[in-house]
Amino acid sequence: MLRFDQRVIGHRGACRYTPENTLASFKKAHELGIQWVEFDVMLSKDNIPVVFHDETLNRTTDGHGYIDSLTYSELSQLDAGSWYGPAFKNERIPLLSDVIHYLTRQEMSANVEIKALHGNDKKDVEQTLDVIRSITSPDNPMFLFSSFSIEAVEHLSKLAPDCQRGLLLDEWREDVAVLAKQLGCVSINANHHMMSPARVEAIKAAGFHLLCYTVNDAARAAELCSWGVDAVFSDAPDITRRDEL
Ligand code: MG
Repeated sequence: MLRFDQRVIGHRGACRYTPENTLASFKKAHELGIQWVEFDVMLSKDNIPVVFHDETLNRTTDGHGYIDSLTYSELSQLDAGSWYGPAFKNERIPLLSDVIHYLTRQEMSANVEIKALHGNDKKDVEQTLDVIRSITSPDNPMFLFSSFSIEAVEHLSKLAPDCQRGLLLDEWREDVAVLAKQLGCVSINANHHMMSPARVEAIKAAGFHLLCYTVNDAARAAELCSWGVDAVFSDAPDITRRDEL
C-alpha cells in the first residue's frame, strides 16, 4: 500500500541542490529527511540499467550522443556532476543497483521511472526487474514503478504482477481511469498543469493515488493537496513538503 506521509517526492533526488539522478542527489534528499524519491532508469549499450534522465548525455555529463551508444564501462568514466557545479566533479552516472542499495540502507522509498529509448521498453523493464530481484523484491512496498510507455507498464504487470505500478500522464485523457485499471495501476502520476478539482475528484473516486509533477512552489503544492492530490514531485522537496496537510 502506498503511503505518502510527507506528500512530497524528491524529483531525481533533490535536483535543485545537487546534480539530478546522482548518488549525491539521493544523499541530499536523505539529509533533508525526505522519504520518497523519484528517478529514471535507462539502459547502456550493453543493457546495464543506470539512473539517468535524458536520452542523450549532452546536458548532464561531459559526454555526448545517445546514452545507449556507450557501454556501462564507458559511461562510468563520464563526469555527471561538473555541469551542475565544481563541487560535484566526481559524481558518476550511478548503476541502478547502487541506488537501490543506498535507498534500502536508508529505508527510503522509490518511484522507479522506466524510460524507453529506441523501442527498448520491454528490455528496460526486464533488466530493471533483474537488478531489483538481485537485491530485494519488486513487490517490496518501497517501490512504485511508472512509465509513460503503456507497453512498459503492461510488461511490468506481466513479469511482476504484484509490484506497485503507476501510469504517467502528460496530457489529459478521459479514459485514464479505465486504462490505469486495465494495467493494474495503483497510481496516476500526472502533470499538475492539467489538474482541476473535478479531475482530481474523478481520479480519487476511481480509487487511485494521484501524484503530480513537477511542483516547486509551496502554494501550488498546498492547493493541489487541498484538492486531494496525494503527493507532488518536487526538485526542492524541502520547500513543498506538506506533512501537516
Ligand atoms: Mg522521471
